[in-house]
Amino acid sequence: MEKIRVLVSGCCGRVGQEVVKMVMKDAHMQLVGAVDQNQIGKDIGVVVGADAAGVPVEGNLAEAIANRKPQVMVDFTTPAVVMNNIRTAIGAGVHVVVGTTGISQSDLEEIRGLCAVHGANALIAPNFAVGALLMMRFAAMAAKYFSQVEIIELHHDRKLDAPSGTSIKTAEMILAARGEAAERSVGEEEKIKGVRGGEMNGVHLHSVRLPGLIAHQEVIFGGEGQILTIRHDSLSRESFMPGVALAVKKIMDRPGLTYGLEHFLFD
Ligand code: NAP
Repeated sequence: MEKIRVLVSGCCGRVGQEVVKMVMKDAHMQLVGAVDQNQIGKDIGVVVGADAAGVPVEGNLAEAIANRKPQVMVDFTTPAVVMNNIRTAIGAGVHVVVGTTGISQSDLEEIRGLCAVHGANALIAPNFAVGALLMMRFAAMAAKYFSQVEIIELHHDRKLDAPSGTSIKTAEMILAARGEAAERSVGEEEKIKGVRGGEMNGVHLHSVRLPGLIAHQEVIFGGEGQILTIRHDSLSRESFMPGVALAVKKIMDRPGLTYGLEHFLFD
């Protein structure tokens, strides 16, 4: 079987380096290109602490695509540059698998149009951790059977936004599965403001920020005489790699734009 020719954009970043290692190890993929604004000219295998890959880091994505002829670009760069990377890749007929955050609704519409014009496919996935996607799906399944639920998300202390995007998405999925959460029957008083967390239509969300944590979430359902807890822990950036690998292998068979890895997993 022909190997899938993969270019990694943002190859020297924290996630990009994991993608490079994953592609180098996967029997069905061949690393053909590596683009970043750091470490230009160095062998990307050496940069990530693996064996030499015979692929130098390049600074210009358009040139790298023209010379290396990838079938798929994986992008983990920054919100400021990701749309230009997507335009360049799709414009050259290269399928894209994108984990970089900051892509807006209007960006998604533009990407959909680019895919149609150039005949390339795109997966834009805010979360590549398969376990986190399953946690959300299980929570939506459980929502029908429990009237009350609270979500606790826990992250490292450098995270800028609260609550996490994953916790908001989880609450939305729970609400979509069963409508509003039940009103609590007792009137309660917050003696310290905010101690009951934030609230989305009856679903309480709590954000914990501490050094030592990475990315964790608990969804706790309460019913009469029983508690159901669904918990997911991302312990390292490797947790995203099975999802990225799955996306690279499926992207060529999924025409147009797909938003969310869950569609590759469950549809
Ligand atoms: P990072 O360590 O900052 O890596 C980004 C890399 O891209 C850096 O090496 C950066 O260089 C490079 N870069 C910046 N501009 C570039 C350009 N014009 N061309 C080529 N390379 C460029 O960030 P990270 O932690 O790996 O995260 C990357 C993105 O993925 C973020 O948006 C993050 O939120 C997202 N993310 C998504 C998921 C998911 O599951 N979807 C999971 C984790 C992270 P400089 O350092 O010089 O800027």
